[in-house]
Amino acid sequence: MSGEPFIKVENVHFLYNAESSNPIAALKGINLEIQKGEYLVIIGHNGSGKTTLAKHFNALLLPTKGDVWVKGMNTKDRSLVRDIRQTVGMVFQIPDNQIVATIVEEDVAFGPENLGVPPDEIRRRVDWALEVVGMLSYRNRAPHLLSAGQKQRVAIAGVMAMKPECIVLDESTAYLDPVGRKEVLDVVKKLNKEEGITVLCCLHILSLARRYGTRIIALKDGKLVFDGLPEEIDERKFKEIYGEEAEKVEII
Ligand code: ADP
Repeated sequence: MSGEPFIKVENVHFLYNAESSNPIAALKGINLEIQKGEYLVIIGHNGSGKTTLAKHFNALLLPTKGDVWVKGMNTKDRSLVRDIRQTVGMVFQIPDNQIVATIVEEDVAFGPENLGVPPDEIRRRVDWALEVVGMLSYRNRAPHLLSAGQKQRVAIAGVMAMKPECIVLDESTAYLDPVGRKEVLDVVKKLNKEEGITVLCCLHILSLARRYGTRIIALKDGKLVFDGLPEEIDERKFKEIYGEEAEKVEII
């Protein structure tokens, strides 16, 4: 075992439209070390940089300045992008955008097929992934007929079938009602606790961040303004961090 963190973010700055006359600084010097097995929740108001940071964890975005390492692999190294994306899977906000097939199990098989996994191994992975998200009995259904929470669980199964060590959820529950949201967050918690999957989850609801995370970081205007345990960030601390902007983040 080397002592290196699972993910290391070192002095990361990110500019949108870097080459233009008015670039937007979305991340301003982020430093972060994430250990294997953590359930890290990223909170912050709209525009604080959560999505931008999340996209750095699997090389969807590359730092304008600074570095991100995933298991020692620098995300700027183009030859490692495939390995990095296989290690860190991404679940997006809107499941409809991720569902590609007309039958649930074919959808889940899509990722491993693309990776060139042999058919019998794909079958095992699909069964396992659907079981783990509680959707095995829906395997022959049409995804577009499922509820939003069920679709999101199928999308998570699709990512899990690629056997990542870590999943990133970018506000993947923002479009769900409270029941669907709980359904998805409970599945993700189970993956973290029972399968040892490292979870990095952007959420904008403090109470959920505290309930599900093992660690919380807070972003404000592209900077890291809090990094600690869920019990260390109560409503008062939260208001202290965000001041007037606290109202832009849901607390309950
Ligand atoms: P969050 O996920 O916390 O809402 P984002 O990472 O989406 O925050 O946004 C951080 C900042 O970057 C905001 O000022 C936002 O307007 C800007 N931004 C995000 N995406 C783009 C983009 N594609 N082009 C230009 N600016 C962007």
